[in-house]
Amino acid sequence: MKKFYGKSVYKGIAIGPVMVLKHKSKNINSRKSSDPDMEIERVKQGIRKARGQLQTLYEKAAAEAGEDGAAIFTVHQMLLEDEEYLGAVTDLIRTKQVSAKYAAAMAGDQFSAIFAGMEDDYMKARAEDIRDVSNRLVRCLSGEGEGDFRFKEPAIIIADDLSPSETVQMDKEKVLALVTIHGSLNSHTSILARMMNIPTLIGVPLDLGKIRTGMRAVVDGIEGEVIFEPDESVCEETRKRIWSEQEKRKLLQEMKGKDTVTRSGRKMKICANISSISDVESVLENDADGIGLFRSECLYLERDDFPGEEEQFQAYAQVLRTLGAKKVIIRTLDIGADKQADYFQLEKEQNPAMGYRAIRICLKQPDIFKTQLRALFRAAVHGNLCVMYPMITSTEEVEKIYKIVEEVKGELSAEQTAYKIPEQGVMIETPAAVMISDELARMTDFFSIGTNDLTQYTLAVDRQNEKLDDFYNPHHEAILRMIRMAADSAHKYGKWVGICGELGADPELTERFAEMGIDELSVSPSMVLPLRKRIRELP
Ligand code: PEP
Ligand code: MG
Repeated sequence: MKKFYGKSVYKGIAIGPVMVLKHKSKNINSRKSSDPDMEIERVKQGIRKARGQLQTLYEKAAAEAGEDGAAIFTVHQMLLEDEEYLGAVTDLIRTKQVSAKYAAAMAGDQFSAIFAGMEDDYMKARAEDIRDVSNRLVRCLSGEGEGDFRFKEPAIIIADDLSPSETVQMDKEKVLALVTIHGSLNSHTSILARMMNIPTLIGVPLDLGKIRTGMRAVVDGIEGEVIFEPDESVCEETRKRIWSEQEKRKLLQEMKGKDTVTRSGRKMKICANISSISDVESVLENDADGIGLFRSECLYLERDDFPGEEEQFQAYAQVLRTLGAKKVIIRTLDIGADKQADYFQLEKEQNPAMGYRAIRICLKQPDIFKTQLRALFRAAVHGNLCVMYPMITSTEEVEKIYKIVEEVKGELSAEQTAYKIPEQGVMIETPAAVMISDELARMTDFFSIGTNDLTQYTLAVDRQNEKLDDFYNPHHEAILRMIRMAADSAHKYGKWVGICGELGADPELTERFAEMGIDELSVSPSMVLPLRKRIRELP
């Protein structure tokens, strides 16, 4: 039994025989050519052929991975006809007197090396797409067809690396899992594997020479491990886990892609809460309508110094790009109380939950706040961002926030940095915010009700104190009336209102929330589909 670890792309489990996929090396023998016009004509013919192949792959991907997964092949068509790439191919043919094949391969290598060297993880991952497209063009110019990715028996595919085209050509029914030595979580191969629900591990340090086709293996995407030649007890345990995962998935698959709507036609959005960038995967997997709460403090915790603007920008932009058109609500820094980071040098307090925390830190130390706002506004260009501010207790706080927002806007404009001011909302998680919710609704774009803190502050029960668990009752009529009051205020001014505290996932209250007209519930990713099911059963 031999175990290896890698990065998990899709958290599924599989057991079965291994199939080692070895790539043929590129066969570019005819390098020189003295007839550049003929070579350029060949390039044009090659592009026509490659375009046709990409259209076929687009259709296969759309059927198996949905339109989002298939979009990869539209990107490939664009890369194939990219003027800079084709210009480089033509230049090489004319100046170096080389063949169309050789020029296409060289230009592909040059362009993918440029992208591989970029800092942005998203751009880095595009190197693989460029390589995939130029290899396709080379194959078309050589008269070679697509590789044969139709396997006879279901197998766990082990490879050095896989391109998106190779992945989509595989017969989904015959692929138990994918395991590669290289690859990135942002690559289109990974995106496709996720969309196709194939258990996939990348970055597994394997020696392909030591792995034989036909060997038995277990791929565990939850633990991020692959076990070759597992003993019988591991196989038995794995079969049981596969069965229970399949049962769970069957129920949830039924809910995927369905509208979140009651039987009488009332629509609600079910979004997901995330506390780290790696949670984004499960947001997509559970088909959430968006991210209703991204606790941005995760970027500030467990480190020795403040995260810089660039680091934050990259993180926010990555989440926004991954979610595409879906809404992402990022909450500004909510540090303090139970969330401590030494470098903030926060003093010990008698009542930390009621102390120097969240928006209070941001308003008192605007440099920290401005860095985050700059990163957020820059990232807003890359997706559908909303920003919300935590622990609001007064309209003066909102005015102060807007003043800082104006300053940040001025700075970004003066520097000619691309940015966008997103919708701005506030969290309703203090009784004060509820009582002035009509005024807050006038000033903001939306509300998100934080029932965890709202319960703590309304009932005067420390949410951290285990001894008080019996007194921490979010079903208390006071809390439910507050939620209704905040919702009524928001709607009076034509604003939308969501619940992002834990209470949002409580199925006993879903009907009541629907009656109150709550527009959005944001819950942990695994609760999205069960809640959608619940809402669809409501009258
Ligand atoms: C809340 O208070 O309900 C909330 C969502 O915020 P947090 O749990 O992060 O304090
Ligand atoms: Mg809170």
